Amino acid sequence: MKQNIFHSASIKLTSLYLIIIMVISLVFSLGLYNISSQEIERSILRMPGPVTQRIFQTRDRSLIEELLVEQGQAVSRAQNRLKANLFVLNIMIFISGGLLSYYLARRTLEPIEEAHEAQSRFTADASHELRTPITAMRLETEIALADEELNLKKAKLQLGSNIEELDKLTALSEGLLQLSRLDNNDLEKEDVDVANVIQQAVERVEKKSEQKSQTIKVSIAKPASIHVNSLSVVEAIVTLLDNAVKYSPEKSEILISTKILSNSVDISVKDKGIGISRKDLPHVFDRFYRADNSRTKDADNQGYGIGLSIAKSVCKAHGCVASVKSSVNKGSTFTLNFPTS
Ligand code: ADP
Repeated sequence: MKQNIFHSASIKLTSLYLIIIMVISLVFSLGLYNISSQEIERSILRMPGPVTQRIFQTRDRSLIEELLVEQGQAVSRAQNRLKANLFVLNIMIFISGGLLSYYLARRTLEPIEEAHEAQSRFTADASHELRTPITAMRLETEIALADEELNLKKAKLQLGSNIEELDKLTALSEGLLQLSRLDNNDLEKEDVDVANVIQQAVERVEKKSEQKSQTIKVSIAKPASIHVNSLSVVEAIVTLLDNAVKYSPEKSEILISTKILSNSVDISVKDKGIGISRKDLPHVFDRFYRADNSRTKDADNQGYGIGLSIAKSVCKAHGCVASVKSSVNKGSTFTLNFPTS
């Protein structure tokens, strides 16, 4: 279906480009033919050479008539040759213009096709992610309802589990909303102090890190200012810190630091956690990607794999680059490189 839409759009666009090329080519050819015909007539009929002049001087009518017929034939022969050449030229322009038009049509439609594909993939992934917990919740609830020995304790347990699932679903739908807002790129930006943004993010995850007896160390090189939407940047750093807490063992240390470069500043979050395998590393910023690591599939750690893709989109909306270095069982370092204001 999608293939058909873009195929017919390519054909329509190719035809449109080709019509424009051919109209221009035909108008030019017509103009060229008129000018060249006049030139031919002028050079053959109106500017007679010395032989013609001598014939006219003889005043021999039949000779002059013969000469005029011959000149007329020469003019129409030259005009026919011109017509044939212009015809061949237009055929060549039609063929090469057709190929060029198709190439240009494909180039024009390619980004639209890619965006359309990404949108459909995103919608399919999002509905899958939303359906899975809803189905599980429904199944659990149905089993509980069918249980004849369902007592208050069991019912409360079930309701508690439902609330957990609902919290996750709320977080997922908020994330999806944020992603679509970022795709539209309508963020209000202001100059903010990097240390301030980091402080706000650290405060948001301190409680979680304390539950795992982890320490978050902050190391700010020098004061720096970035022109960003502070709320979404704080959110992106919270995601990195939250993951560091989630995927690191108890009592470990997490370091958040800055590095000032010539026109930018690096904000890095380094942990000594489970790390990410080489296979997963290029995909961790993809939407809905979760590393294929059994430990990351723990119930406590289960996320939807959109945190990092949101962080990356936030980054992109600010002309920033997100990167990661990691080695399994040693730890990971996520870096956001923001242009300085
Ligand atoms: P999730 O909600 O699953 O954590 P993210 O988009 O934040 O989604 O992360 C994608 C995947 O990248 C995670 O499922 C996890 O496997 C991996 N990951 C992210 N951060 C870390 C980290 N600090 N250490 C190890 N793995 C990580």
